Amino acid sequence: MPISQGWQGILKKLQYINLSHLFMLQIYNTLSSKIEPLSPIKKGKINLFVCGPTVYDYSHIGHARTYVAFDMFVNYLKHLGFDVFYLQNITDIDDKIIKRAKEKNVSPKELAYEFEKEYMADMKTLQVKSITKYARATEHIKQIISQVERLLVKGFAYQTSDGIYYDVSKFIGYGKLSGRTVEGAEDGTSRIDEGVAKKNKADFCLWKLALSEAKEFEPSWPSPWGAGRPGWHIEDTAITEKYFGAQYDIHGGARDLIFPHHEAEISQMEAISGKSPLVKYWIHTGFLTIDGQKMSKSLGNFTTIRDFLKQNTPQTLRMFIFSSHYRSPIDLKDTSIAEAKANVEKLQDLITKLQEVKLLAKEPSKEFNSLQEKFWDELENDFNTPKAKAMLFEIANLANEKISKNELTQEEAEEILKFLKKINKIFLFLDFKKKKEAEIPEEIKKLAKQREKFRQAKEWQKADEMRNLTASKGWSIYDTDNGYELKPKDPTID
Ligand code: AMP
Repeated sequence: MPISQGWQGILKKLQYINLSHLFMLQIYNTLSSKIEPLSPIKKGKINLFVCGPTVYDYSHIGHARTYVAFDMFVNYLKHLGFDVFYLQNITDIDDKIIKRAKEKNVSPKELAYEFEKEYMADMKTLQVKSITKYARATEHIKQIISQVERLLVKGFAYQTSDGIYYDVSKFIGYGKLSGRTVEGAEDGTSRIDEGVAKKNKADFCLWKLALSEAKEFEPSWPSPWGAGRPGWHIEDTAITEKYFGAQYDIHGGARDLIFPHHEAEISQMEAISGKSPLVKYWIHTGFLTIDGQKMSKSLGNFTTIRDFLKQNTPQTLRMFIFSSHYRSPIDLKDTSIAEAKANVEKLQDLITKLQEVKLLAKEPSKEFNSLQEKFWDELENDFNTPKAKAMLFEIANLANEKISKNELTQEEAEEILKFLKKINKIFLFLDFKKKKEAEIPEEIKKLAKQREKFRQAKEWQKADEMRNLTASKGWSIYDTDNGYELKPKDPTID
């Protein structure tokens, strides 16, 4: 075969492969405190884990900030061509779950399943669809016990009368993520486990033995050390070891988890495997705050996702989250929500106008392409969504200006629509279906409703008459499992 033909074949194949992940995405790594090029362990493949919720109550919009930010980031990684496995744990056994279950007089299991279901429902409404696998802590007890056993054998853990603890003084790398020392570990935090005979203040619980008098209220599992339940940190390493092995690419969560939770995960897994680093890139989101204070259940300053969505659309919330850099805090203000809502409406309005542009191209403009390139450049730079947003609205403003002067060509309109559809696969703050819905004339909707009533009443002749009348006005009614759908009539069908 002549060489030129061989090259042609290769080039032909290359055009079907998305090679954009070879161009460098830069991302801030909490472990190095630097912005670094993202280079996964295995080329083209990313294993990513984000700490999931503790399911004892409804999720609030602080949680949504973190989960939507990671959803957008994962969608972006996929857009770049990475094959992403996004794993999230569900903490379905924990002191807070047990306490709330007692208050409500239900079993902890029942409570956890109820709120896991509610969490999933909230995520679905917010269009968070990027998670490959959810893993419940209670379904990984075998893996948890195996990790505790290995830590005991290697001398990183010890037993007391109330449980098994991790000895932080034994792990040389302790503090490498958070910058804490063994001695200063407890400063400013109340989240380190209490324990009757801990060796160091910072030692944390791996396995909590069930107290005899509380056994009937507290779920427990048999273990070589007696019935008990896992500590907070061990569930995550047990789950990630099962799905990813001892090392993986990205671990995420909000910044409150850096210490002690993520520090503990590193201590556990690196001690077990002897391999370092556990995770190549640690990514942490900033908080959603109210008057500068973290939104949290314990402070009582929270708005649940579902309450927020009584007044606002999921698209507004996603635009609100997109408008800030993922590492920055976002203070919740009525004005910023109103701004996000107006931004969504502006883009929706533009979509409607773009679909109607009829002017044919004289000379295609390069302005839009260069703004689009800048948009993508900003995302490559530590996923800088607020700067990307500035580019997006430059595009929107320019398009609106050209439309008002009747200067926007059909080619340009199509190009912008294509761009908006592409970015919406990542950010999901627009609704391309809305246009079709809005286009259906009121008269047609009424006719379809009347026809549906006749159909329900089995008045077939009247129903057919209505269907024919609707068709004569250019609309077809299609019956579906959930009712009916209206579509513009296909001109090739009589
Ligand atoms: P939790 O259910 O409290 O363990 O939280 C689940 C996830 O949401 C963790 O990654 C938390 O760090 C994150 N999170 C909780 N509150 C906020 C907040 N106000 N802003 C951003 N992320 C939060």
